Amino acid sequence: MRLLVVEDDPDLNRQLVTALGEAGYAVDTAFDGEEGHFLGDTEPYDAVVRDIGLPKKDGLSVLEQWRRDDRKMSVLILTARERWSDKVAGMDAGADDYVAKPFHMEEVLARLRALVRRSAGHAHNEMECGSVRLDTRTSRVTVDGQGVKLTSHEYRVLHYLMLHRERVVSRTELVEHLYEQDFDRDSNTVEVFIGRLRKKLPGDLITTVRGLGYRLTDIEDGA
Ligand code: CA
Repeated sequence: MRLLVVEDDPDLNRQLVTALGEAGYAVDTAFDGEEGHFLGDTEPYDAVVRDIGLPKKDGLSVLEQWRRDDRKMSVLILTARERWSDKVAGMDAGADDYVAKPFHMEEVLARLRALVRRSAGHAHNEMECGSVRLDTRTSRVTVDGQGVKLTSHEYRVLHYLMLHRERVVSRTELVEHLYEQDFDRDSNTVEVFIGRLRKKLPGDLITTVRGLGYRLTDIEDGA
């Protein structure tokens, strides 16, 4: 899962990036409306956390522009403004949810979990495929109830495949949702992560669809 944080307050920006990184997301960051607009326009984020009052380009018009350009990622707005009319304006501009400052980081994390799972068509934080379960609240993965230790990149690959298990996910798509913008990306490393996941999880869980990518297979219900 890859997120964008747009916040001009440097301390708050850093706190968000740190907390989201610890929660297992790949996080890109911007400090003004212009840079935020550009990144949201060109990179495939699973969700965006953004301030409304931003230098260079105001947050609401950036949001409206994204939606006009058919950018569909979930957007959580942060607003210092308590007035109900500002929340309405934010939602009407295309935000999916809001958190009023000051906020507890746990609330931002919970709202993001809900946005990410909903946008992929899931109602629950716990996802399963055969004997494998993944809990997005704790980033914990189990096989037949036994905990499995995954690295953060292995977890991101499995989380993404679980969220999109009804379809084939290409290697390029995985790479785009796995790494931060500045990361030296190499699509071959996805194969390495898949190989390690196959060793740690039931070997037939991840199917390679030749020339297309990967999908999860649940042997029990033949899906
Ligand atoms: Ca601000």
